[in-house]
Amino acid sequence: MSFLYKKEKMKKFLDTVSKCIPAVQKEFDEYQKEHFPVRSGEFFCLELNGEAGELANLEKKLWKGKDIAHEALADEAADVLIALMNYSNVRGINLGEAVRLKLERIDTKMRELKEKGEEY
Ligand SMILES: [Mg+2]
Repeated sequence: MSFLYKKEKMKKFLDTVSKCIPAVQKEFDEYQKEHFPVRSGEFFCLELNGEAGELANLEKKLWKGKDIAHEALADEAADVLIALMNYSNVRGINLGEAVRLKLERIDTKMRELKEKGEEY
């Protein structure tokens, strides 16, 4: 299935990403600095992957038919986001800008492919 946002809607989406993610990221940075010891980029990268692994393990259990509480998935998803925020802050990554640029590249690629009658 190929679905393209209209250019106006895509621009609004990208503007929201550019505006809201940095605001949230900044709050995470202040919270982290006030409440926790300084950690390295390597630490947060490992933490991010560890948390993503915990989330993946829950999904594996779901896939195998086990009963996993939605709250457990939400808790691990929150861990992933927190670790990503901390990692990005330590590495000086502006996530809002990085995500906006990535979404723009994906949108451009999708439009190019659609013009050729191909799927993304
Ligand atoms: Mg966790």
